[in-house]
Amino acid sequence: MPDPDDTTPEREPRAGDRGDAVPHMSGAEFRALGRRMVDWVADYWERVEGLPVLSRVAPGDVLAGLPTAPPEAALAGWDEVFADLERTILPGITHWQSPNYFAYFSANASGPAVLGELLSAGLGVQGMLWATSPACTELETRVMDWLGGMVGLPGAFLSTSEGGGGVIQGTGSDSALVSLLAARERALSRFAGRDRRAAMARLVAYTSNQAHSSIVKAAMIAGIAQGPGDDDAVRLIGVDAECSMRPALLEGAIRADLRDGLIPFYVNATVGTTGTTAIDPLGAVADAAAAGSAGGGLPWLHVDAAHAGAACVCPEFRAWIAGVDRYDSFYFNPHKWLLTNFDCSAFWTRDRRTLTRALSVTPEYLRNEASESGAVIDYRDWQVPLGRRFRALKLWFVIRHYGVEGLRAYIREHVRLAGAFESWVRADPRFEVPVGRTMNLVCFRLRGRPGEGAGATDARTKALMDAANATGRVYLTHTALPAREGAAADEPRIVLRMNVGSTPTRERHVRAAWDLLRSLA
Ligand code: PLP
Repeated sequence: MPDPDDTTPEREPRAGDRGDAVPHMSGAEFRALGRRMVDWVADYWERVEGLPVLSRVAPGDVLAGLPTAPPEAALAGWDEVFADLERTILPGITHWQSPNYFAYFSANASGPAVLGELLSAGLGVQGMLWATSPACTELETRVMDWLGGMVGLPGAFLSTSEGGGGVIQGTGSDSALVSLLAARERALSRFAGRDRRAAMARLVAYTSNQAHSSIVKAAMIAGIAQGPGDDDAVRLIGVDAECSMRPALLEGAIRADLRDGLIPFYVNATVGTTGTTAIDPLGAVADAAAAGSAGGGLPWLHVDAAHAGAACVCPEFRAWIAGVDRYDSFYFNPHKWLLTNFDCSAFWTRDRRTLTRALSVTPEYLRNEASESGAVIDYRDWQVPLGRRFRALKLWFVIRHYGVEGLRAYIREHVRLAGAFESWVRADPRFEVPVGRTMNLVCFRLRGRPGEGAGATDARTKALMDAANATGRVYLTHTALPAREGAAADEPRIVLRMNVGSTPTRERHVRAAWDLLRSLA
């Protein structure tokens, strides 16, 4: 037995040394290097606060540090790999796990999640079928039921219901795509043969002009949209001053399309848009879809809560998803704001039969007794790829480690910190907050100076962001607000986005970010 306390990394005999043809890593070597790698990650998390958040390498720098040809001979010792991590890889990392990372949305990791990831890799399970690892499937079913209940989804979305259930997809874009494929399946199931092909060309999807690009991309992949600008296939519905979809416009668009012989088949509502975390009113959007499509079939209703869904673990934020019981599918990404490292997108549907009808193909080599019995779930039929990782482990560890209360505390603290940041911005007359804050994102900009054109104000706001990012002490990004109806033509559009959502972020980091921004302003 190897000594479990021996952390000497270099160099245990390998299988190759004992006469095997292949120099596999021995158990002892794996233990020692594994400890060293976990130490490396733990040290990284401790020192990441002091590293420039945004990577400073120029294009090609990382490539230039890597040999052009792979090594012929096996590695003599892992010291050189650890040296390469410091020398070549780390400078090319933008530190998403930094407490000073406020860009985009977060992709937060945590100890329990990373341990789950390690275990998943070590087990090396490929869980395409129930039979290829029953635990991979059944843990996922249970954890998704837990998580669905935790964010307040109605029972009809859980596996315990007649027709619903949850599944872990890789990314939000996968979740968008499978929802749209299910919607297409439902709409086309009314047609057969040639009529079905012809109907394909008449399908129209609806989402707000603030929705994530993954909706349009899903329509492109599904053969419905010809490209990103194909607004005959995906109608981008206008928004109000808070960037939320205007249901009356949706209703009118659906009605007009039906009149023109088109088939409205899919409506996406976003809870927490990427630009400003605006919330589409789910109930009113569902009403509009129903009223607009009266006389035709009701479109598949889908909710993209990629970022904001995590916050629904707190009962006080669940008003955002009131009305979700009328939707066919819903997802959010625990890999954004629920302490589960990328990738992990939690997707639920109330209509799993339509979903699996859209995605199931069964060649002989996948047939097996358990699947034929109908008593098990084969998650391969709920997603685009066949193979699947054991992602439920990391979610399971996160939920068990923090407990639901711990996860609520995590979300509430970020929302509180974003609120504090907003109050500091509002108290400084040089700045303004042009759209309301709904959660942990503050959109703000420099106020225009008398006589200054909107373009110049936008340029100053962007220059402030660039200057702040160049210090290496923070990283934040920007977006452009949509033109407001009835607003002066020459109105600034650029806002900076301060998203408080990283695992180690505390009040002092948010305070320091604000001090930096106001000193640079
Ligand atoms: N939907 C929204 C609202 C998002 O903000 C994002 C990403 O930020 C996505 C979808 C896409 O998520 P993913 O990167 O997991 O595909």
